[in-house]
Amino acid sequence: MIRLTGRAYECCLEVLQLLKDAGHEVYIVGGAVRDAILGLPVSDFDLASSAKPEEIMASFHTVIPTGIDHGTVTVIHHGFSYEVTTFRTDVSYNDFRHPNAVSFLGSIEEDLARRDFTMNSLALSIDGTLIDLYSGQEDLKNRLIRTVGNPDERFQEDALRMIRALRFQSTLNFTLDQQTEQALKKQADLLQYVAIERIQMEFSKLLAGKAVDQALHALVQANVHLVLPELQEIEQSFDEIPFLVNLTTEIERWAWLSSTTEKPSQFLKKWRLSNRIIKEVEHLLVNVKNAQDKGWNKETVYNALPEVKSCERLRSVFEKRRPFLESVEQITSDLTITSSKMLAVTGEDLIHWRESSPGPWVGEALKQIELAVINDEIKNEKSSIRRWLKQWQTQ
Ligand code: ATP
Ligand code: MG
Repeated sequence: MIRLTGRAYECCLEVLQLLKDAGHEVYIVGGAVRDAILGLPVSDFDLASSAKPEEIMASFHTVIPTGIDHGTVTVIHHGFSYEVTTFRTDVSYNDFRHPNAVSFLGSIEEDLARRDFTMNSLALSIDGTLIDLYSGQEDLKNRLIRTVGNPDERFQEDALRMIRALRFQSTLNFTLDQQTEQALKKQADLLQYVAIERIQMEFSKLLAGKAVDQALHALVQANVHLVLPELQEIEQSFDEIPFLVNLTTEIERWAWLSSTTEKPSQFLKKWRLSNRIIKEVEHLLVNVKNAQDKGWNKETVYNALPEVKSCERLRSVFEKRRPFLESVEQITSDLTITSSKMLAVTGEDLIHWRESSPGPWVGEALKQIELAVINDEIKNEKSSIRRWLKQWQTQ
C-alpha cells in the first residue's frame, strides 16, 4: 500500500539497516510516511530512533549535529541527508511556545504521541510495517487534519500548531476536523506568544498551497488575522486570492501579502523577512506600480528586469486575470540592451570626449543615454552616442 521508490529511499533503507544492526530501534516518521500514503513524491526522510545522538554519530562517517540539544542530527549517506531524532518525550510546557524540557528516554509510542496531527504521527519500519496509533490512515483517507489528542491542549502546548494546521489545509487541500477547528478559534490568541520567525516559515508554505483560498478564509474565520502582525485588513484583498496560484516564487507571494498593508516594507520587517527579500519585494512593487500606470513598454520592462515576469505575475493577481507573460517576453526580446553594463560607452568615454572633469553630469548623461538607447532614439554604438553627447552639451 505504501509505495516508496527512488535512490533517496534506497539509501534511507541502508541507514535504517545500519542503525538496526547497531542494536537500535529506528523508523521513518512524519511527512515522508504521510506523503507516501497520499501518493505524493517524497524526497525528505526524517527518522526517529532509540539511538542517542552520540550513538548515531558513532555509526556513520558524516554526521552534522544540527539540533543536538533536541536530539536531532543529520546523517549524510551517499550524498543524501537524513535527519535522525532520538525518541523523546516532552516533559512539560508552560509558555505556549516550546517544550521546556525533553527527555531521551522515550519509545516510538511516546515519540508519536508528541507529534502534532494524526497524519503526521505515522511511523514506518524497515520491513514496511506501519505504526498508526491515532487513526492517521483513516484521517488521510478522509482528508482530515486532526490533532493527536485534545486539540485545545495541543494548541496550548505549542500555538504554532494552529498555523501548521492552516498550512497543511492549504498545501494538501484537506479540511480541519470539527473539534480541531473549534479549538483553533478558541486558542488563536495564543499565537501572540510564538516567535514570528516560526510563523513566517509556515506561512510561506501556506501561501504556496493549492488551497490557499480555503486556508486564508479559515484563518480569518478563526480570527487568527487579528493576532498576527498587520493582517487586520487582509479581507479587503480576498477577491485577489483565487489568483495567487499565478505566483511562482516566495518573493512574489510575500510581495502580494505585504501589498495588502499600507507599508509593505514595514510589514516585512515585522515578519522578520531578510533584507534581501525586502529589497526584492520593493523592486517588484515599484515596477508593478509603474506598469499599472504606464503599461508594459520598453522602458517599464527594462526597469523591471531581471524580474519582469515576476512583476507581470504579481500584476495579474492585482488585476485578477491570467498573466500575459508572452507580451513581456516579446518586449524583452526586442530590447537592444538588458542592463546598463551593455551600453557601448562608459563614464570614462564621456569624460574623455567632453574633455571635462568628472562630476555628477557623467551619471546624468549615462542615464539619458541609457534611456535613449532603450527607446531606440540612438544606436548603442560609440559614434552615435558621441554625436548625441555633442548635442546634449549644447542644450
Ligand atoms: P513537510 O513535507 O512540509 O516538511 P512535515 O510533516 O515533514 O511536512 P516538518 O515541519 O518537516 O513537517 O515536521 C516534521 C514532523 O515533525 C511532522 O510531520 C510532525 O510529526 C513533527 N512536528 C513538526 N512540528 C511540530 C510541532 N510544532 N508539534 C508537534 N510535532 C511537530
Ligand atoms: Mg519535513
